[in-house]
Amino acid sequence: MPIRMTQQTKLVLATVQKFGHATNSTILIYADKKMPGLSATTVHRITNRLITNGFLSRGPYINNSTVIDANIKPHDHFVCYKCGGVKDIYLPVSIRKSLQKQVPGFEGSTQLTISGDCVKCLKH
Ligand SMILES: [Zn+2]
Ligand SMILES: [Zn+2]
Repeated sequence: MPIRMTQQTKLVLATVQKFGHATNSTILIYADKKMPGLSATTVHRITNRLITNGFLSRGPYINNSTVIDANIKPHDHFVCYKCGGVKDIYLPVSIRKSLQKQVPGFEGSTQLTISGDCVKCLKH
């Protein structure tokens, strides 16, 4: 079913594109300032529809919530385990091949997430 670009849908899409990566709760906090009255359920429904229609993608799962991603090309993530910052990365095929040998059933196309300290957190 094609998506209807309502004002709410446009705002949710623009919010994710502004942040690059955002959880539904971050989207709600930000978007609610621009268009008061948005509910968590509405944001959840809109992001699901935008993902299904290929406008957004599903990023890593951090702290019990899915990160909604503005980058719709296949890619991996670096996640800072201190501040939760998310960065798009592209890991080489060799890493996937190595994982396929070590992790039974690992699918090469799976999105990978690497954790560590980001530059900001290392400076503190
Ligand atoms: Zn950090
Ligand atoms: Zn991403």
